[in-house]
Amino acid sequence: MSSFKKGGMYVLSSPSGAGKTTLVKKISKNKNFFTSISHTTRQPRSNEKNSKDYYFISKNKFKKLIKKKEFLEYAKVFDNYYGSSKEIVINNLQNGKNVIFDIDWQGTRQIRNKKLKYKLLTIFVLPPSKEELLKRLIKREKKNLKTVKKRMKEFKKDLSRWMEYDYVVINDDLKICYNNIMRVIKSQKKITFDKKFIRKHVKKLLS
Ligand code: ADP
Ligand code: 5GP
Repeated sequence: MSSFKKGGMYVLSSPSGAGKTTLVKKISKNKNFFTSISHTTRQPRSNEKNSKDYYFISKNKFKKLIKKKEFLEYAKVFDNYYGSSKEIVINNLQNGKNVIFDIDWQGTRQIRNKKLKYKLLTIFVLPPSKEELLKRLIKREKKNLKTVKKRMKEFKKDLSRWMEYDYVVINDDLKICYNNIMRVIKSQKKITFDKKFIRKHVKKLLS
């Protein structure tokens, strides 16, 4: 496992099902990396555990936390609320940890606009194809087609957000994608990617 020195924020966003949660879990195995566990009002999936995958809370509790300004950012996504705890994130950054976020474009915007004194790198994950994305969603949602449909409906809108991110990757082979992301995270140089190629890929996903 590699070792990282100073605290920074690394955000992964994607259309639902592209694989960001899987990637975040892999990245968090690196030394000095900490995953920001979000609060959510969504129901847990069968394999999800409270305080490991999310803090699963009621809408009432979530609204109280908003009032108390406990969130660094929060947003309504697919009819549920999701938010990152300010205290936990800032404490970890102050302790020199790299904090990794699995959040949507709305939350990413909020964090970007806060202009915190920590390094911020935002990464957008694309699926290799629409067919593969559908397959992944069906597998994860255990054939709960209502949820799959809802998420596929937002797919095109979510996709258009790639332009707001510092770096864009295609999650075809998981290991290659992970290595690609780690290379970017470790890089001290200015981040660039082939925008022409990504634009072409997005066009294909939209067709
Ligand atoms: P997201 O967090 O972006 O909604 P997940 O990480 O939950 O997506 O991944 C959705 C499903 O796709 C999961 O069942 C996961 O195991 C699978 N998956 C993720 N990445 C890949 C990949 N590169 N190849 C095949 N399946 C993948
Ligand atoms: P899921 O229900 O699949 O776990 O997550 C749905 C969407 O909510 C994903 O795009 C995920 O990145 C986003 N999300 C998860 N946690 C947070 C959070 O704390 N804040 C924001 N803004 N989005 C989140």
